[in-house]
Amino acid sequence: MTDTSNKPAWTTTDAEELYAIKTWSAGFFGVNDEGHMAVRPVPGSDLEIDITEVIDAAVAEGCTFPLILRFQDIISARVRRLNQTFQEAIAEADYKGEYRTIYPIKVNQLHEVVAEVMEAGKPFNIGLECGSRAELMASLALIGDDTMLLCNGVKDHSSLTLILNAQQLGQQVLPVIEKYTEFDQLLILADQRGLDKERAPHLGVRVKLSTRGSGRWFESGGSSSKFGLTVPELVKLVGELEERGTTDTLELLHFHLGSQIADTQVLRSAVKEIAQFYADLHERGIKVKFLDVGGGLGVNYGGSYGGEYEDVDSSINYGLTEYANVIVFAVKEICEQRNVPMPTLLSESGRAITAHHSMLVMPVIGVHRPDAPPMRDMPPKPPVVVKRMVAAYKEAQKVDARGALTEVIHDAIDAHQEAEQLARLGYLHIEFLAHVESLYWNIAREVLRKFQALEMDPIPVEQTDLEAQLTDLYLADFSVFQSILDHWAIGQVFPVMPLDRLDEEPNRRGQVVDLTCDSDGKIDQYVSSHLNKSWLPMHEYRPDEPYYLGVFLVGAYQEILGDAHNLLGRVGEAHIYASADEPGNFWIEETIKAISIKDMLSTVQYFPSDLDRRMTELIRRKIEAGVVKPAEGMRILNNYNKRLEDTTYCDTDMVKRAE
Ligand SMILES: *Cc1c(COP(=O)(O)O)cnc(C)c1O
Repeated sequence: MTDTSNKPAWTTTDAEELYAIKTWSAGFFGVNDEGHMAVRPVPGSDLEIDITEVIDAAVAEGCTFPLILRFQDIISARVRRLNQTFQEAIAEADYKGEYRTIYPIKVNQLHEVVAEVMEAGKPFNIGLECGSRAELMASLALIGDDTMLLCNGVKDHSSLTLILNAQQLGQQVLPVIEKYTEFDQLLILADQRGLDKERAPHLGVRVKLSTRGSGRWFESGGSSSKFGLTVPELVKLVGELEERGTTDTLELLHFHLGSQIADTQVLRSAVKEIAQFYADLHERGIKVKFLDVGGGLGVNYGGSYGGEYEDVDSSINYGLTEYANVIVFAVKEICEQRNVPMPTLLSESGRAITAHHSMLVMPVIGVHRPDAPPMRDMPPKPPVVVKRMVAAYKEAQKVDARGALTEVIHDAIDAHQEAEQLARLGYLHIEFLAHVESLYWNIAREVLRKFQALEMDPIPVEQTDLEAQLTDLYLADFSVFQSILDHWAIGQVFPVMPLDRLDEEPNRRGQVVDLTCDSDGKIDQYVSSHLNKSWLPMHEYRPDEPYYLGVFLVGAYQEILGDAHNLLGRVGEAHIYASADEPGNFWIEETIKAISIKDMLSTVQYFPSDLDRRMTELIRRKIEAGVVKPAEGMRILNNYNKRLEDTTYCDTDMVKRAE
């Protein structure tokens, strides 16, 4: 990344390659001619929106940072793409049945998101899935008569009652039995209501397969999974329905392998396993209609599929087409072999529908550079350890070969450690220690520069260590724990990159750190084409000009998993639609304010009226004691109260000295 004059000029294409945009953007994101990040939310159209213009427009509407930008068109594009892909697979396989998407709302429950999914899914008969009582209650009001709703998760007596009520109203709501007791409870409730055979509750069953998932969430499947009926339980349930003469109420078989299935082999094996059970039930006269393959359709968060620095679980090795083909062909094959009708196929794809549509925008508010200022003249009679560092410094200027450079950096590290030890024991004066430190950073930078010029592959450990040591910390206005919790919790990688200046070569190594007082509050894995993924190529920060970073693909799970570490709360949002008739090709449909300090504090039982009362009392005492004048006291109190209305994040303006 050094500036050699015979290198071709940096272009925006270089930026696209450096941040490996093609690997994760699913065609939605790219760099425009001005070096800004741009979005093309409508596939098949060349409508392009400059993301920096959206930021400016959102700020003009009163949005604060950090800010979620929601490109609503991307949601509908993903819904259409998923359904069209399955339709193509069905046509190609000559599959005698349909496919429907079931959107699991736990992935992103925001009303606007669910509404957008349902609207785009109307032509495809899309359904919803809920996994808790709160989700059930939200969904019941949204679905009307036409939308299928599957109820997974633990269902207590009141959930089952809500579901039965919905079935009585004629809504298409199916409880998916996860535990045998749920089935027992459901029958008791139905009997108590005196529901006869014709009105018996309809249901589905989640089956524990012997096929286990792979990747991070593999525990969701397999026989040790906490959900689903075992095969003996399924057989017992069927027997009970036969005794009651209500076998037509069993409508659906379901499995779920866990999110982000890494490999389609596992999926194929699970689909075949459940298709055999389906065929067995049909032969026994139980005409199950739906085969539900659960979630797990993966999203590529960037990078490739292996290598020393790669996060394999954040990548998948298949696309939508392969996913659909695996399911459609496997079910068809078994239904033909067993001579049973082909079921309607369902997939509960959440991540694949919502991940791409939202991004987080956060301004950089400062940079910390590991460095030391140059020192003035050396005091007389430096001790041996200082002389060693001076010698290493001179050597670093002279040598260029890998071996000699490695020796220099080892010497410098050794002298540095020794100097620190001596200083701790009182044998090295602070002034000499300052010289040692300053020389050390000089040597480190020089050696790293020369290592990089050698372009070694693989990169030697000494170089990787120096890169880590000489990486700038870019402090950004956000919290990992609120906005990308999975990065902290399970090491999920998200694409992060500057949104501006992409026509300029980024020549700094950066690590992004957040506002929390937590050493884990940082991003430590990046998506780039560089071998070492522990830092992000970034531009020199200019304090007088905004430098925005974007975190992409945060639309699935992150927004709702977020917690309130350091009381950094929910961030603001702007919802954007593309339109060729508007300046900049977009309009902001709605903005949602970030949570205020006042509301955040209330969630942990600090109430504004009580805080105000206590502060007023404190200031009254100080005025009485003559510590501050009344006017000054009131100014301090008013400022305190006004700040309660602010967001929980930072003010990005710097204090300026009057000219
Ligand atoms: C979480 C979950 C899903 C969603 O999975 P994705 O990988 O996001 O598509 C689907 N079904 C069930 C039962 C789930 O628990």
